[in-house]
Amino acid sequence: MHHFFVDLRQIEGQKVRITGADVNHIRNVLRMKLGEEILISDGKGRDLLCQVCQIGPIEVLADVIREEESRELPASVTLYQGLPKSDKLELIIQKAVELGAARIVPVVTKNVVVRLEPKKEESRRRRWQAIAESAAKQSKRSRIPEVSRVLRFAEALKEASDSDVALFAYEHQKGMAETKKELAKAAPGQRIALFIGPEGGFDDAEVRRAEEAGVRPVSLGKRILRTETAGSALLSMLMLELEIKGEERQGALKL
Ligand code: SAM
Repeated sequence: MHHFFVDLRQIEGQKVRITGADVNHIRNVLRMKLGEEILISDGKGRDLLCQVCQIGPIEVLADVIREEESRELPASVTLYQGLPKSDKLELIIQKAVELGAARIVPVVTKNVVVRLEPKKEESRRRRWQAIAESAAKQSKRSRIPEVSRVLRFAEALKEASDSDVALFAYEHQKGMAETKKELAKAAPGQRIALFIGPEGGFDDAEVRRAEEAGVRPVSLGKRILRTETAGSALLSMLMLELEIKGEERQGALKL
């Protein structure tokens, strides 16, 4: 089923008004017909199953059939990713979106070797945001995650300071039982921050500053993961914890 994102203003009671590039896509690329069902998200967590009822030259109207259960994680997870070499960040963004991250923040740490020219930064961020949007559509997310501007490590730590749970993946940390304990603190409704180092890892001073800022080190196992693997590994572990608690809460609500 095709999936479109609209602004809240385009949802008018039991009708949704699709405009802009999506109209051409519906008419001339997908060649959709009246009566076809489509999934429409408001980008803020609401999903509506709709049926195309009018296909015009500049707008398409759809009737709302029902609200669908949201596909979002029950907590807001931000991935602070040490800026990796070449175009690895595109893969990292794609996987983080599929795994439910709400925000991805590229971070410049001491061992980051990439030097982003300021005048190119915004165009790179727009490209990364487009990757996030495409992954959100493919994975049928209810919202489009944000790829923020590049932050320095100190800025990222400051921003993450008001998270309910903040973890950094640290390959010198021992014990997955500890990791499990830290992940068990995650719960629906929270703001959660995850930090992943670049190819060269976090340097000792950054490890110290992170711990002083209350960000807890966690092991991802005995093997050294590539930076582009580590975020997905930690997000997957966190997703399990959150989805189970989210389902338990849903179950409790239904009783
Ligand atoms: N300093 C590492 C080394 O010894 O080769 C390289 C860093 S690793 C390629 C990139 C990042 O992935 C690390 O900064 C860390 O955040 C994460 N990472 C990789 N393997 C990990 C593990 N086993 N436990 C925790 N974090 C890990």
